[in-house]
This record gives sequence, C-alpha cells and structure tokens, in this order.
Amino acid sequence: MTNKYMLDVLAKVKARNPGEPEFIQAVTEVFESLEPVIEKRPDFVKANILERIVEPDRQIIFRVPWVDDQGNIQVNRGFRIQYNDAIGPYKGGIRLHPSVYMGIIKFLGFEQIFKNSLTTLPMGGAKGGSDFDPKGKSDNEIMRFCQSFINELYRHIGKDIDVPAGDIGTGAREIGYMFGQYKKLTGEWSGILTGKGIPYGGSLARTEATGYGLCYFTEEMLKANGKSFKGQTVVISGSGNVALYACQKAQSLGAKVVAMSDSNGYVYDPNGIDFAYMKNLKEVRRGRVKEYAADHPGSTYTEGYRNIWKVPCHIALPCATQNDIDKPSAEALAANGCYCVSEGANMPSTPEAIEVYFANKMLYGPAKAANAGGVATSGLEMCQNSMRLSWTFEEVDEKLHGIMKNIFAACDSASKEYGMPGNYMAGANIAGFLKVAEAMKAQGCV
Ligand code: NDP
Repeated sequence: MTNKYMLDVLAKVKARNPGEPEFIQAVTEVFESLEPVIEKRPDFVKANILERIVEPDRQIIFRVPWVDDQGNIQVNRGFRIQYNDAIGPYKGGIRLHPSVYMGIIKFLGFEQIFKNSLTTLPMGGAKGGSDFDPKGKSDNEIMRFCQSFINELYRHIGKDIDVPAGDIGTGAREIGYMFGQYKKLTGEWSGILTGKGIPYGGSLARTEATGYGLCYFTEEMLKANGKSFKGQTVVISGSGNVALYACQKAQSLGAKVVAMSDSNGYVYDPNGIDFAYMKNLKEVRRGRVKEYAADHPGSTYTEGYRNIWKVPCHIALPCATQNDIDKPSAEALAANGCYCVSEGANMPSTPEAIEVYFANKMLYGPAKAANAGGVATSGLEMCQNSMRLSWTFEEVDEKLHGIMKNIFAACDSASKEYGMPGNYMAGANIAGFLKVAEAMKAQGCV
C-alpha cells in the first residue's frame, strides 16, 4: 500500500488502538484491497470516509454480575460495539468466550459492516459479547448470566436500533434466555434478537444458514473455476453451529468430509463423518469430538486443533475461530493438494496464510462473503417478524441460496472491475465498502 491518505489513516488506527492486534489485522486487510478504489474516488478522500469508517459509532462496556450454583457472585465484562448504521440498524452477534476483549469485538464489528452490506439487506455493522465461558456451566448459570447481560444491554438495543444475534458460545438456548429477559424488562414483544426458537419468532433454516450459505458460496466459486464439490475430500475445523451444517451441506453436494475438530483436537474418519452422530454429540449431549473416535471404529482422534490442516483434502472449510490457519498450516494444505479454502469462521486465516493461498493459486473465499449467509438469514428473520409471517424452510433456504449466489457474483465482478480477477477477498472488500461509503457520503458528516 503506497497511498498517502490510506497510510496516514492506518497509522492513526494503530496509534489509537494499541494492544488490539486482531482489529489492526482486519483493518489492514480491508485497506490493502481498497487502494484502487481510493485512487479512483477523491470524493471519498474529501469526505474522509476511511477515518470515519474505522471509528465505531459507540463502544459500550458493562459489568455483568451473576450468581453461580454455589451461591457465589461472579463478575464478567460485557461489550457491545455499534459500529456503523449508514445502511440499516446495527446488526451482529454476541460472542461468549473467555478470549473476548475489546479488540476481538472491534475486529468482528468492523468486518460485520462489509459483510452485512454484501447481503444486500439493510443492516449496519455491530458486535457484542463477554469473556464469560459457557463451557461446564449449568443451564441455570447460563440463564442467570444471560439475564444479567440483558439487564444492561436492553437499554442500548431495539428492533430499529440494534438487533443482536448468536456467535461462538451463543446458540438457541442463550438467545432464548436473552429474549425472555428483554421482553420482561420492556414489556414489548419484538424481533429484538435473531436466532430465536421457532415457536417464538425464529426463522426456519436460521440454524443451518451459515454452514449452508458457506457451501452455496463455495459451490459458486468452484463452478466459476470449472470445479464442484462432487467427489472431493473436505476438511472442516470446528464442530459448532457453522461447522456442523457446512458438513451436512457439503455431504449433500457430493463431497466426503473426513475431519472435524474442537479446541482440543480433531477426529479423522476415512469413511466420511457420521453427521447424525456429530449433530447429536454437539447439539444434544454437548460432548467433545474425542468421543466420536471412541464410537467409530476406523476413525482416529489427534490432540491439537491445528493438526487438522495436515489431513490431505481438496477443499478446506475453517469454521472454528480467528487465526486458525497459520502459515505452516496453509503450507501443509497446499503441499497435500488442497486447492480451495473457503471461510466459515471470521478471519480464520492469518495474513501469512492468505499469502500462501495466493502464491499457490488456490481459490480463496473470504469470510465476510462466504459466511454472510448467517446474518442474511437473520435479516430474513427480521423481515418475517415485521410482517408477522413465517416462511417455510424451503422458502428461506431458496432465498439464502439466491443471496449467496449474488454475493459471489458481486465479489467476482468487483474483482474484475478493479483489475484483480479471481481475487475474491479484494472483490468482497470493495463491493461491501462501496455501498456503505456512498451511504456515508450522502448522509453528510455525522
Ligand atoms: P460455536 O460456539 O457453535 O462453535 C465454535 C467451534 O469452534 C467449536 O467447535 C469450538 O470448539 C471451536 N473453537 C472455538 N474457539 C476456538 C479456539 N480458540 N480454538 C480452536 N477451536 C475453537 O460457534 P459458531 O459455529 O457459531 O461460530 C464459529 C465461527 O463462525 C466463529 O468465527 C463465528 O464468528 C463465525 N460465524 C458464525 C455465525 C453463526 O451464524 N453462528 C455467522 C457468521 C460467522 P470448543 O467447543 O472446544 O470451544
């Protein structure tokens, strides 16, 4: 990057956000893609769009006290970043994981601006979460935490202001407790959270949407390059919401998924992952992937989650967490014949890993495009709540499929228009940015 305006803004971002490497990483990646746009659009420089877009509208940090099953008072820290509402109400998930701090929420919120723009639905960017660890907690502890979290957050959100959703550690159970508490405090039944249960305003196919959407996007990318999922070997990191439904859809499109993981290690099943078993293990029993190997003769369990990238495959779908694929992992993938990496998780590839993909001419589907199916279907849940209607599974799935095809087409055409054909990372950043930048410019300096 040589553009002086961009270098100046990036230097300010680094100075203003010390100790937040994930956030700096996300901003740097977007800026590197945007250079040709900024060169062409002096009006964006005049409106100082870049310096404005990297600064959140507001960041909220709050205390979340709750009582554990032994009667002790525990205190966690809650976050909500309302990043940018130029094109619609703030929208983004809530992450519950001990690694959560401001830098993680800020990188996720920043990415969310462009992802939501790519969906073509009117949604701004936001993210929230807490350093609370749901692992090993009882249902009652989870409920008390979620209620306390909403006791503060409720005053900052609203169906036309900010609509949170799930993310790591926040699934249907947590959304249910949060929704119940919001309703209790406000006396209002509104579509305030997405990812709700089906009996109370949730959308069919929302649970499956991110994983399915990832496969729909990947299928388009493969098709555009003369390939398909049929007969291909696939490796998926993670075994949570995104990973599970990516596994199911990849299998239904004719691929063989041979490995999945959790944060402890991975399971390899040369016969193909038994999806029904894995779904029950993770969603009902809340168990670990280690148990899969014990119940499936011929499969093996290996400690260390990054080792999964040493398993030979054609297509890799990282669906766990950020910076999951580092340089050695990317090199192992390339050396073993992997030609496509498509991201279900947010920012799962380090910048060095991405360089390896490009150096090896691998197809690369960047998260903000490839995993946008989750938030897109959350947008469809908001539509249904506003209309007081429920669409069938097939109707939602068809809309999701159409949205993912359009997202791929937008990335593809932006990459070509700006002279980087096949670079879908640049295409996604540019296409997502342009709409938000035009909206910010039109709305003046606010
Ligand atoms: P879940 O909590 O359902 O599952 C997360 C999975 O990733 C688990 O298998 C977990 O293993 C693993 N994991 C989490 N943290 C780490 C870590 N530090 N190292 C290794 N493995 C880890 O989350 P989701 O499936 O919802 O989310 C996965 C990714 O997809 C995240 O990056 C999220 O931001 C992104 N995403 C999710 C969307 C959604 O609709 N849910 C939408 C768009 C993006 P363990 O059980 O051991 O912790």
